[in-house]
Amino acid sequence: MKPRLNKDYRLPASEEEMTFGTACATGLLTAVNSGWRTFRPVIDSMKCVHCLICWVCCPDGAIDREGRELSVDYDYCKGCGICAHECPRQAISMVKEGK
Ligand code: SF4
Ligand code: SF4
Repeated sequence: MKPRLNKDYRLPASEEEMTFGTACATGLLTAVNSGWRTFRPVIDSMKCVHCLICWVCCPDGAIDREGRELSVDYDYCKGCGICAHECPRQAISMVKEGK
């Protein structure tokens, strides 16, 4: 069966209305899953405006918002790059592992 478009969809107006991926908080996964990562996201705190779009979009809840600045939990980040793609400020760079 083909998926149907939800024509009534509207963007969330507040953090409370935002939906989450398969996980909703850093530390929810029970096993380290970063072994196959090729690129890792690096957040430029000078460009970041703390909009939390990356935090919402990360499918693994690997972005931590608890501190003053966002940080990535590299034990659980799989390097998919969704956060970098969705960041409206281009504050996240995908850097090749080993560099
Ligand atoms: S999406 Fe970009 S600007 Fe927004 S919080 Fe994440 S890194 Fe910062
Ligand atoms: S690269 Fe993917 S898994 Fe890693 S923090 Fe960004 S969205 Fe999450």
